[in-house]
Amino acid sequence: MNENTERQTLARATAEVLKKYDLSLKKGFGQNFLINAAVLESIVEGAGVTKDDAVLEIGPGIGTLTMYLARAAGSVTAVEIDKRLIPILRDTLMGADNVRVIQNDILKLDIAALAEEMNGGRPFKVVANLPYYITTPIIMELLEGGAPIESITVMVQQEVADRMQAAPGTKDYGALTLAVQYYTTAHVITEVPPESFIPPPKVTSAVIRLDRHAEPPVAVRDPKLMFRLIRAAFNQRRKTLVNALANAPDTGLDKAEAARILEAAGLDPKVRGEKLGLAEFAALADAIMQKEDL
Ligand code: SAM
Repeated sequence: MNENTERQTLARATAEVLKKYDLSLKKGFGQNFLINAAVLESIVEGAGVTKDDAVLEIGPGIGTLTMYLARAAGSVTAVEIDKRLIPILRDTLMGADNVRVIQNDILKLDIAALAEEMNGGRPFKVVANLPYYITTPIIMELLEGGAPIESITVMVQQEVADRMQAAPGTKDYGALTLAVQYYTTAHVITEVPPESFIPPPKVTSAVIRLDRHAEPPVAVRDPKLMFRLIRAAFNQRRKTLVNALANAPDTGLDKAEAARILEAAGLDPKVRGEKLGLAEFAALADAIMQKEDL
């Protein structure tokens, strides 16, 4: 079967499911369902899923990617927010007895507890065609939340994939870039055109895999403090770092203290946060930890 025929087959099957259940897709839930078999295969292959793996899928929709994952993985735990999809998933995933569907909002779920319950605490490989309205909060929670996660392979908007890999000083560079760098190594798997989905989104998409580091690339005494500083810097990215730090509500610094800390970290007081790399934010956070000595 060539790519076009496969797409038509999956498109027809998806349309039939939607018709059978009289389901109207909810834009508010970011419901753009995949209908391109080549893309589905490259997600599973790009994620490196094997029978040894426990997969966490976020937003199974009507279960298209879930079926591909079920064939490749040891087990799949699929978390779907939309109650209307649960009976449909029961139908479309019939016979896939290594899949468990949970109706919940992924941002409200305790993923560490889920890994404990489903895999005895063994890490998940997260694989998902993410809902675009909450891509960044989901990625940040997966990175920072402390749940055991080995890798994250996700469909995101191309623009988000660019932000994940941006260079300092560019418009795409920000807190997401630094979190991705601190916790993972990013690999782009493939670009995905809008016509691979029903309905087609307005933007080009990309599949990206984030492999969690065994050790972070920089040593910092308090990573949470470092990310508070990073957020403060990028929330006011047009300001010098001294002003951004002194204005931020949760740094507890006045301008003179902020200037002394920048100096202690070996940074130019006029620098903007958007020019700094991970090592410099780490130095800044460590300088704050020693603030009492300054
Ligand atoms: N995996 C399916 C596919 O590839 O065809 C559907 C992907 S669709 C882009 C995103 C899915 O995430 C939808 O099924 C949507 O209902 C679900 N979703 C949206 N917000 C969610 C949330 N907070 N928690 C869990 N699922 C969510």
